[in-house]
Amino acid sequence: MTHAVAPRAGILDIDPYQGGESRVPGVRDAVKLSSNENPFGPPPAAQEALARSAALLHRYPDGSHAGLRRAIGEVHGLDPERIVCGAGSDELIAFLCTAYGGEGAEVIHTEHGFSMYRLSALAAGATPVCVAERDRRVDVDAILGAVSPRTRLVFIANPGNPTGTMIGTDEVARLADGLPDHALLVLDGAYAEYAEGHDGGAGLVAAREGVVMTRTFSKIYGLGGLRVGWAFAPAHVIDVLNRVRGPFNLGTPQLAAAEAAMRDRAFVDHARSENARLRAWLALALSQAGVPSDASEANFVLARLKSPEEAAACDAHLRAEGLIVRRVGGYGLPHCLRITVGDEAACRRVADALARFRERAE
Ligand SMILES: *Cc1c(COP(=O)(O)O)cnc(C)c1O
Repeated sequence: MTHAVAPRAGILDIDPYQGGESRVPGVRDAVKLSSNENPFGPPPAAQEALARSAALLHRYPDGSHAGLRRAIGEVHGLDPERIVCGAGSDELIAFLCTAYGGEGAEVIHTEHGFSMYRLSALAAGATPVCVAERDRRVDVDAILGAVSPRTRLVFIANPGNPTGTMIGTDEVARLADGLPDHALLVLDGAYAEYAEGHDGGAGLVAAREGVVMTRTFSKIYGLGGLRVGWAFAPAHVIDVLNRVRGPFNLGTPQLAAAEAAMRDRAFVDHARSENARLRAWLALALSQAGVPSDASEANFVLARLKSPEEAAACDAHLRAEGLIVRRVGGYGLPHCLRITVGDEAACRRVADALARFRERAE
């Protein structure tokens, strides 16, 4: 039987996002290092707030997200009126594409950029435009060269995923200032907290009408399962996003847990300093095993093997040792493996397994 109804153009071009795997058949103590999750788990304060919120589940949530926006504003020194919250930053990326994309609009993303930019653009009926990077780094001139009269959105992640590399605030400002005023620059700061002294682009947003920053509770806050993200944007964009979002897009447990996590600065500081320490240790161990990686500003390293075949063999070897990392061929990096910085034991296991892989190959 067939049916004549068909989705809008672009929808069937979407290959659904594949999350990181979490199991290896036959291995009991497998460690998941494939989704850049926080090895310290969810903050205890967030777990307690979540449990307390259960008694309120018969009530609709606060559709204005006032408490959470106030907490974010206090911690980051930002005006809560210019913050909007979503079910993960994925939802905010989708809202931006829904609001500013659409038929005829072009949405720029970069060669190794996060796949949700392309998927959300297609879902909104817009045309994704892929721009080359330079040595696994966002190339501002290449982006400016790809702008057309139809460009409405430009997405970059800084630090990038899966590269872990960053461009400096001067470069981001040059990009923002070079874009025409019919385009918005979206700075995805999913890993901003891991980059020492980086504000995620908040300062650029505050000083301009055409720049938006997205952030998430899924990485350093250890709450990927909860689905909470937020955006800081000019007032005109906040107004638009509040029209596009559902009135109750976040539930009471999400709001309560995220607010508690935002206020638990000790948890975040500990996660940041442990990540910095273990990231440096892991990168050094990789290089000693003959596996180079770019300096990462995030909570993962991108290991570069010699070929796609060697990356596949290395992935199989790690997997057999119970270490689940991420193949990134879909990001144009078939010779690389993205490895989340886990806890100390996990980092040691990765280093030992890679050393054994190299010995075996020689
Ligand atoms: C993990 C990640 C996000 C976070 O997505 P959520 O929907 O907030 O979980 C956003 N952007 C990038 C580049 C990421 O890697």
